[in-house]
Amino acid sequence: MNLLDRLFSKEIQRRTGAHAITIYIENENARKRSRSRGKKALTSASASTKKTTTIVTTKKLQGSFLRRLDTRFPWLKLFAVLIFGIIVVLDLCDLTISHTSDESNRIKIAPMAKHVRVTERVLNGKKLVALTFDDGPSELTTPRLLDILKSKDVPATFFMLGSMMRTYPDLAKRIEKEGHIAASHTMYHQNLIRISAAAMQDDINEAKSVYSNILGHDLTLVRPPYGNYNDAVRSAINLPIILWSVDTLDWKSQNVDSIIATTKNQIHDGAVILMHDIYPTTVDAVPALIDTLRQDGYEFVTIPELANIRGSNLTPGTIYYNFRP
Ligand SMILES: [Zn+2]
Repeated sequence: MNLLDRLFSKEIQRRTGAHAITIYIENENARKRSRSRGKKALTSASASTKKTTTIVTTKKLQGSFLRRLDTRFPWLKLFAVLIFGIIVVLDLCDLTISHTSDESNRIKIAPMAKHVRVTERVLNGKKLVALTFDDGPSELTTPRLLDILKSKDVPATFFMLGSMMRTYPDLAKRIEKEGHIAASHTMYHQNLIRISAAAMQDDINEAKSVYSNILGHDLTLVRPPYGNYNDAVRSAINLPIILWSVDTLDWKSQNVDSIIATTKNQIHDGAVILMHDIYPTTVDAVPALIDTLRQDGYEFVTIPELANIRGSNLTPGTIYYNFRP
């Protein structure tokens, strides 16, 4: 082979691999042998060489398509990996969002059912108490209380004023979202037995409306201000009325030690403990109160849980002070 042949063969080898060069050399020898037989034979051999090289090249190209694609477009593999990664991430995000939506909907639609299921399994036969908080929610005190209840894993029942819910709707939603029971303490904390029947009905109706507008479902429990009621109030509320059996007098003392001592003096199985989440001292007292009652063997439940475990159907218009065994 002369220099041009060598260069040509190297080029073929580069493009098509070792097999092609072997065929080329064989055809080249045939071409040399046929040189003496005339120009026609030379042309035929040359055409044969080109044809063979073309076939081999095509086969090699087909066989190594992905490899050559990879060589010519090195970014293609990276691009494919990137697309695959994006698809996987989007899929995971979709699953997470779906899961979160389902979870929040479940809590929103049936917060009571969720707690009842848990308590039936864990709390039967145990001493139970329900913490209840009135007059909120307040931006100044309720968030700290919710943080404490969450850290102690204690559910509570909040009897909120419609006027406060309207001012702090996000707090009302947070209360329910964190597994507590949202209930009503009427709209403006009026003494319902001292106002006209029409004013009483207006207050109750407005509170119900604000409640369902903010939380997206109907009100189920009410505590009238000062615990005052008569037949007209019971009839107008037309829901279970929850009072209390342990009065911490937190509004009066506004003192942590006094709140704890007063509670310990009155505590009993099935107690409903009255507190107000608008006082910083009440919030201050809650961690020690929870620890003290737990040391005495009490478990914390919401009002619907307590009623369910103690076999109460929570009848509309009925007054409940506690849920003893
Ligand atoms: Zn009150």
